[in-house]
Amino acid sequence: MKLRSMEMNITRREILRFVGGSALGILLTPVPWKALDDSAIWTQNWPWIPEPVRGESSYKLTSCTLCSASCGLRARCIGNQPVSLSGISAHPLNSGALCSFGIIAHHLRYHPARLSRPCRISGKAGASGSTAMAFDELLLEVAAAINDASASSQTVAIVDGRPGRTASHLFQQFAAGLPNGKYITAGESSLEILGSMFEKPPGPLAYDLDNSKMILSFGVPLLDRWGTPARTARYLQKKSEGKQRIIQVETLQSRTAGMADRWIPIRPGTEAAFALGIAHVILKDKLFRDASKDIAEFETMIAAYPPSAVAEICGVSQDFIRDTAREFSANRPSVAVIDGSANSRHALAAVMALNILVGNVGRKGGVVVHREIPSPVALSKNKMSPISTLDAIPDHSIRAMLIDESLSGSSLPDGLLQKKLTGNGILVSLSPFVTERPFCTQYVIPSPVFLESLAELTGQADRESSSLSLSAPLVPEPAGMVDPIQFIQRLGSAAGVMNIDSGTTEELLKKRMTAIYSEKRGSIFNASNGQTSELKGLTSPDELWNVLFAGGCWMDSPETVRSLPAVRLTSVSTADRIKNIPPESNQLLLLPCAEDVIYRNSEISPLMSKVGQESGLRPSGCKVYLQTATGDALGLTDGCRVMLQTKKGSMQAEVRLDPSMMPDVAAAYSALNQQNIISLCEMNQDASLQPTPVKIQKV
Ligand code: SF4
Repeated sequence: MKLRSMEMNITRREILRFVGGSALGILLTPVPWKALDDSAIWTQNWPWIPEPVRGESSYKLTSCTLCSASCGLRARCIGNQPVSLSGISAHPLNSGALCSFGIIAHHLRYHPARLSRPCRISGKAGASGSTAMAFDELLLEVAAAINDASASSQTVAIVDGRPGRTASHLFQQFAAGLPNGKYITAGESSLEILGSMFEKPPGPLAYDLDNSKMILSFGVPLLDRWGTPARTARYLQKKSEGKQRIIQVETLQSRTAGMADRWIPIRPGTEAAFALGIAHVILKDKLFRDASKDIAEFETMIAAYPPSAVAEICGVSQDFIRDTAREFSANRPSVAVIDGSANSRHALAAVMALNILVGNVGRKGGVVVHREIPSPVALSKNKMSPISTLDAIPDHSIRAMLIDESLSGSSLPDGLLQKKLTGNGILVSLSPFVTERPFCTQYVIPSPVFLESLAELTGQADRESSSLSLSAPLVPEPAGMVDPIQFIQRLGSAAGVMNIDSGTTEELLKKRMTAIYSEKRGSIFNASNGQTSELKGLTSPDELWNVLFAGGCWMDSPETVRSLPAVRLTSVSTADRIKNIPPESNQLLLLPCAEDVIYRNSEISPLMSKVGQESGLRPSGCKVYLQTATGDALGLTDGCRVMLQTKKGSMQAEVRLDPSMMPDVAAAYSALNQQNIISLCEMNQDASLQPTPVKIQKV
């Protein structure tokens, strides 16, 4: 493609509009959906749309980096330009399917809000107050802040949304080289919580959903956007054949809730109570198979959660709690999963306790132990910092926070970032786009987008075994882009942190290939011929590299069953934390919700965005969803405007009445910036949102 006009006349207002859009996408979702969405609309509307070149087609194979599903894909190219993307049919991770975002992922590089130079954005001034800088100049300023932090015993934190990469291990080395360095993964996953309940670390844990007979899901979008479209199709197929049951416990009637075998709507923020109610039944009816030393102590601890009390807290019938407990225990192998990004640490622990109680841990179809992917960096003489979580770091103690946003991944709410920074704290972000964070001085370093650079993909933790793929650069990256490995090595040398492994990205990834090859385990999918064979059949690490570079994938062999360390159920410690927060008579509970929950009936492709907006099917502005009866009781009609008022602030929204909503709940969505709604909510120390009472008044 070439641009119709290189003399583009883009107004500042247009750029700012897109800056806001990309910020929303990167902050709130596991992939830059909004940026893609913008690109899709933009390619239909804007004067500088890329014009496809004409010529012969050729095909190149690679892997999608937009989320951890790591789908294999085929790019149709004209000359060197990818013009369409499709799945690789025999690929073990996606079986030929791409999601609607992957299909147009090649548009991302044309997004007009892409950053071309490093910049400093001073607090409160917004993107319009940004100052372009040379990369070296930026490094000097950031290094000075890091040295200042070290001299004054303040913390320097590095946040990683995609742990397990070679770059992640270098981040851990960087943090270990500072007196108060912390390596943080964005959001603690349920499996990390489960790992922490063992007396000794059991190794990396993973859900084995494919081999499970029953999945008890607490808000996990299994049939919406969890994994790949092929994975979703597989769940639906198994469900229709009666081979797998899905019970969805979730406040809103999401797409997964709508298609599950049973949907149990509970009040927002009561997931922990519901899980403990199930645990109570499992123990009382002697349905457990676990012999934890502290099981009697655990039973005493959760004595306050009989089905009668839990039904009251969650707003459900006691029968649902009893039936779910019996089904979960009887249909083994079963597994309980919970959305780590939306729930408190206590809720994650309570749900993981269910897996322990019925003996699902260390069992095929339950929670399995993955082997570590071999990594020479992890074994090098340079020490690595252990993984920390942001909630464990005292408020107002981080002088410099570095965030790798070059690949989309888990993210942290702005409110939490702000709370952890010192008054003069800075935020340093590696990202293709500017994300406005007006609460501090921010440095942004431009990184390449999908198809422009070599990236390493460590796969999803919901398979029987781990995997590794590469995403090869198919087009040249623009000048001045910085990848995560270059970033941390250059920053380390500017700040005098010398204990970071050297080598280019390609050299370090090739070393990892050599380490994997020398283990001689697992299998390898070759995308060029669609064949899967044993790794030990390859003749050299170079051959492994070449296969992965051309859209292939290495899959580890499953861990052979081994005895796990003892586990302590009482580390759940949720019993005294669960509060029933009934709203006052004129209040509801505010629940920020994602756009695709509202669409409910299907995932809307960004290709359809323009049609969706023009037809009014797609929500715009801020909407609040209420049960029809609740709206009637408050004298509100569909489409009227209201003020949402919490202790933290207020904002206007348009009412949508929906019979599927729970009576006490106000689910709010903002097309412009979901952070506005999140800022109205009370936040727990671990960055999860508390159910927040909200007053709704007509304006
Ligand atoms: S599901 Fe697959 S195609 Fe879609 S964004 Fe994730 S990796 Fe890309």
